[in-house]
Amino acid sequence: MEGVEVDRPMKLHFIPYPAPGHMIPMCDIATLFASHGQQVTIITTPSNSHFFTKSLSSVDPFFLRLHLVNFPSQQVGLPDGVESMSSTSDGDTSGKIYYGAMLLREPIHDFMEKDPPDCIIADCINPWVYDLAHKLQIPTIAFTGFSLFTVSLMESLRINPSFCSHTDSSPGSFTVPNFPHSITLCTKPPKIFTGFMEMMLETILKSKGLIINNFIELDGEECIEHYKKITGHKVWHLGPASLIRQTIQEKSERGNENVVSVHGCLSWLNLKRHNSVLYICFGSICYLSDKQLYEIACGIEASGHEFVWVVPEKKGKEDESEEEKGKWLPKGFEERNIGKKKGLIIRGWAPQVLILSHIAVGAFMTHCGWNSTVEAVSAGVPMITWPVHGEQFYNEKLITNVRGIGVEVGATEWCVNGFEEKQKIVSKDSIEKAVKRLMDGGDEAEEIKQRAQEFGEKATRAVQEGGSSHNNLLSLIDDLKQMRNCKTLD
Ligand code: UDP
Repeated sequence: MEGVEVDRPMKLHFIPYPAPGHMIPMCDIATLFASHGQQVTIITTPSNSHFFTKSLSSVDPFFLRLHLVNFPSQQVGLPDGVESMSSTSDGDTSGKIYYGAMLLREPIHDFMEKDPPDCIIADCINPWVYDLAHKLQIPTIAFTGFSLFTVSLMESLRINPSFCSHTDSSPGSFTVPNFPHSITLCTKPPKIFTGFMEMMLETILKSKGLIINNFIELDGEECIEHYKKITGHKVWHLGPASLIRQTIQEKSERGNENVVSVHGCLSWLNLKRHNSVLYICFGSICYLSDKQLYEIACGIEASGHEFVWVVPEKKGKEDESEEEKGKWLPKGFEERNIGKKKGLIIRGWAPQVLILSHIAVGAFMTHCGWNSTVEAVSAGVPMITWPVHGEQFYNEKLITNVRGIGVEVGATEWCVNGFEEKQKIVSKDSIEKAVKRLMDGGDEAEEIKQRAQEFGEKATRAVQEGGSSHNNLLSLIDDLKQMRNCKTLD
């Protein structure tokens, strides 16, 4: 009988957080488990189902299915269909979405009672899930959208009293104490982020272990050891999860609906030389002012490099007046660049993984969201780092100081969220300089590109049979089965 129990697939319920940067990697990780014969249910709300349905079509529904619970729109005062952080550009609405996601506790509780899983895998931004699971005596594994480098750096800060007592206005730079790498940050995070970080780290420790969308070689054994030493917690590196997507269709059908034709985008890139195009995108929830977009336009034009630039959807709508356009695009920019096929502007959702994996792309100007970072690493593309808020400043340090696969643009203002109006503008000169530093050639640029290429190869090996992430997945499935039999993972 015992053998039969061991062979039965694990029944896993996934609970993502309603933001693209969280749903996308969780969807890929759920698909990973399903493609290894485990029975996965992703719990989400109707308007977010499209984030997952495209993946579902490639997997047997016995192994991967969706369970929908209604979003409490009326209760939180939101119009129907506004259920994801990417459907808003203001902090008030995002607060309501956060609150609405917490109210899912009740319908999810009812579902769990009717259909209890062997284990819940939940985003650690949903702390209520862990209390619910505890009540129902269902074990949990935490998922974080961060790298372990960042999680363990945050743990180092959390246990340091002098850092914890800082105020938002504390001046000067500081060096992260008790950490395997020497990391100096010029700005301290806003208090609100530190509080959020604390809650997240506590939540992780309520679980039986932590899943990371990264591979060991990029986080580094030293960070893994450090995290285990200070927390005693288990960690499984299963990524880069995006590498589960192999075909053009799988790479392009990811997240929101693309606003460009995949064929058009590929045809444009196919005409370009290898490593010649700069790709610019600031993720799914980051809004730059018109003034900042204007500086970017001037900076990339002055650099002389060809580009694919993703801007918010409302930019350049057909009814945008010349006056409106003039606020974020220099006069004649479109004629000189778009018309002459030197640049492509994508207004809205772009097929990012597909673009990054194109041979013509030579650098990525990024806000350093973790998914964007690990997707660039997977494609062997070096980065120009421009963090805006949250843990993006820590990711920048991993990319530049620690792994040497990118250069900083020089952004120092740590915003509270992606919607906030930034006070400091990154100048066109800084942008031009950073682009040229990485794309004009020279010894430094060649070394950075070489290292990025090597990490890309390591990422690919990690997810292949025998690779570190592949082995971790098998060992996690084994651990979960053991836990089901013995009811413990400790
Ligand atoms: N993304 C995309 N197209 C876009 C913007 C974003 O495919 O036009 C994807 C990107 O590939 C990544 C995710 O959305 O998987 C953004 O996550 P990240 O952690 O980089 O940033 P966030 O949006 O959470 O700040």
